[in-house]
Amino acid sequence: MPVKLNQNNMANIILNGLTKSKRPIDRIFLHCSATPEDRDVSGDDIRQWHKNKGWRDIGYHYVVRLDGTVEEGRSVNLDGAHARGYNQGSIAVCYIGGLNKDFDPKDTRTEPQLYALYNLLLGLTEIYPKATLHGHNEFSSKACPSFNVQEQYSSLINKTTQIMIDDFQTDVQDHEEGADSFADFVNDLTEDKANENAVCGIDDDDCEACGA
Ligand SMILES: [Zn+2]
Repeated sequence: MPVKLNQNNMANIILNGLTKSKRPIDRIFLHCSATPEDRDVSGDDIRQWHKNKGWRDIGYHYVVRLDGTVEEGRSVNLDGAHARGYNQGSIAVCYIGGLNKDFDPKDTRTEPQLYALYNLLLGLTEIYPKATLHGHNEFSSKACPSFNVQEQYSSLINKTTQIMIDDFQTDVQDHEEGADSFADFVNDLTEDKANENAVCGIDDDDCEACGA
């Protein structure tokens, strides 16, 4: 039975906590369902589409419906199927929408979805404090989720930066002598990330979940 959350009980998601994955999580991905605005689609609908493709279950871990209801999808303890090369170690959040009526990419998030997504992502970044937040389009040439996650959720992403700074300070305390500058520390992380991306390289046809 999926847990259903809406604006009225959304506070519980933070207070009671989300189910924390037994997998180590280093990335949280945002997707859209690649369906036209105003078309109400449920997590069970997507589950059926994905099962029809021969997958064992819905590819996403959370689905945010037009009315802001958050539905649980695949168990967070299992790898999702949403971004080839990045399914391991990630959590996938999908909001319903992402296309206009002509099936072109569009940020169609409703007000309840904006509210629900922010709260869900806030909760997820709390239980996975080292995870970084990304749009599918950062790792693919797809438009999904039809907006710029780094811009839209910079306050949540900056929280992650704060954790990097905290980590660095702990590092400095542990190894007072010979510590790099913070700039070097960030540079190293950025280079690691660039290398990772270079090895993986998703091409156009590799989007597993989003038809966009
Ligand atoms: Zn996607």
